[in-house]
Amino acid sequence: MNSCGGCKRFIGNEPAVYANRQLYHPPHLQCKVCNHRIEAGQTYAINEGIIECRQCLLERHAPKCYGCNGVIESRFVKAMHRRWHPNCFKCVGCGCTIESDWLNEASMGSMHRLCYWAFVRDTQIVQTSAIK
Ligand SMILES: [Zn+2]
Ligand SMILES: [Zn+2]
Ligand SMILES: [Zn+2]
Ligand SMILES: [Zn+2]
Repeated sequence: MNSCGGCKRFIGNEPAVYANRQLYHPPHLQCKVCNHRIEAGQTYAINEGIIECRQCLLERHAPKCYGCNGVIESRFVKAMHRRWHPNCFKCVGCGCTIESDWLNEASMGSMHRLCYWAFVRDTQIVQTSAIK
């Protein structure tokens, strides 16, 4: 007998989808975590027998960006032992996005190489004048 894995009612000649070794009325194929319907063609995962939508899966398992705390789906920058969206990875010197050529300064954060040199030069000047 074919019964819907969601509402447990019998499925006759109505349209049905097959997932997780069970048939479902299409509107009853839902993510068990957020209860949103999983549309045809949408990716989902089976996690310990529980159907989970892609969004919930990402929320729980995907790495988070240290800048905005959002889920990282594909591209990321790894710096300071943390992961960042390429857009969220910013230079602490000038505040702009860093695409390449940066330095990690442990006490401050990541900086463009040029911003870092400018910063170091400035600090040294300040320090020298303070000593005099
Ligand atoms: Zn159903
Ligand atoms: Zn979900
Ligand atoms: Zn981010
Ligand atoms: Zn910079």
